[in-house]
Amino acid sequence: MYFYIETFGCQMNEHDSEKMASLLMESGMKLSPQLDCADVVVVNTCCVRQKAEQKFYSLMGRLRSIKKRRKIIVGVTGCIAQMEKNHLYERLPFIDFALGPSSIHNILHAIRNVMDYKPLFDFSDNGGAPSIFLNPNKGAHRIKAYVSIMKGCNNFCSYCIVPYVRGREVSRESKDILQEIEAIARRGIKEVTLLGQNVNSYNKGRDDLPFPELLKTINSIEGVDRIRFVTSHPRDISDSLIDCFGALEKLCEHIHLPFQSGSDKILSLMNRGYTSHGYREKVDLLRQACPHIAITADCIVGFPGEDEDDFEKTMRLIEDVQFDGLFSFAYSPRPYTKALNYDGAVPREIALGRLATLQKLQRNITHAKNRAMEGYTVDVLVEGTSKHSPYDLTGRTRTNKIVNFTGPEDLIGKNVAVTIIKGYANSLRGEKVREKEVMHA
Ligand code: SF4
Repeated sequence: MYFYIETFGCQMNEHDSEKMASLLMESGMKLSPQLDCADVVVVNTCCVRQKAEQKFYSLMGRLRSIKKRRKIIVGVTGCIAQMEKNHLYERLPFIDFALGPSSIHNILHAIRNVMDYKPLFDFSDNGGAPSIFLNPNKGAHRIKAYVSIMKGCNNFCSYCIVPYVRGREVSRESKDILQEIEAIARRGIKEVTLLGQNVNSYNKGRDDLPFPELLKTINSIEGVDRIRFVTSHPRDISDSLIDCFGALEKLCEHIHLPFQSGSDKILSLMNRGYTSHGYREKVDLLRQACPHIAITADCIVGFPGEDEDDFEKTMRLIEDVQFDGLFSFAYSPRPYTKALNYDGAVPREIALGRLATLQKLQRNITHAKNRAMEGYTVDVLVEGTSKHSPYDLTGRTRTNKIVNFTGPEDLIGKNVAVTIIKGYANSLRGEKVREKEVMHA
């Protein structure tokens, strides 16, 4: 029996899909390379932005027509399943099962139930939380692995649906995380990314390792070359975490630190708990601890109440900080959230116009930063062959920038010194060097 998982949204969701795939493969099912050839299609959903939700419904339309032509099992998992738990079956009567984010460990059970004509719709909340304890990294040799360290969020940013669909924060015990990473390292996987909605709150109020201590312990695990983590909240990032960037040689020189807006008025409406000045201070401290650190972020334009002056403040923050990359979005109202009832909606065309202006600024900054790397030699972990040319390999710098260069396939999975010869808007072109002469640009 073949299965296919379509994933929407963030790395957390990608990782949840890996967990489900791992369980299905252990049971003897095979991964189908294409949706059209699969007997079971699982759609792992994201409801953080309206666009992802629209894409989900459009895929469901396609699955409905496939289901009319041939027998397939269709399941919906993740945040939309949780958000729509009372109406999902009404809206999509052809689906066979649905699991909320805390119930994905029941995937096999759900598929077996369909075969016994007992559809499973499981939306248990965070209390159970066994899904974070699944270890999806048991499969074939890979180069990098995600490891969940916590799930859920207690922050209640006024635009965000995550606390309502993923529940409150639950941290995983450090001994289980360390065991999983030791097993990953034994299989030759070089890079580990720790995942959580707000990793800075890991083990908050619990008698277990706080996040910086967890990083230090992972840094001492033999075989792991690179450690990354997402996502950090600017309010919660501590001095001891910042110090880790200067002290731990395996911790990659990159942080994703969403700022969301450069205006204090909007940050307060968003319930973010920091000011634009406070954000800049954290950036300064990070750059003092680690001068070559790459900083990426998320931001939202067109939040209710945002006027031209607020938007200008966001533009100024982007210019001042000089981000390496930015995920920027026009605000979209989400169910359950506080901002849904805010006055001062920004007309869509104005929000989209601001977004285009902001993205143009950031494109220029990213391109200039990439060009500034020309001539430097960097350490690249080779992840595979390039999608664009069979002769090219592709990998990432420690600062998380994509580098393409020509080389033999036996370099896949290795750290290679590469000299950057061209900085493009979204990637770098390099040449492999013989002498390892690494400079973290
Ligand atoms: S920190 Fe805010 S934006 Fe991030 S998941 Fe929690 S509520 Fe959502």
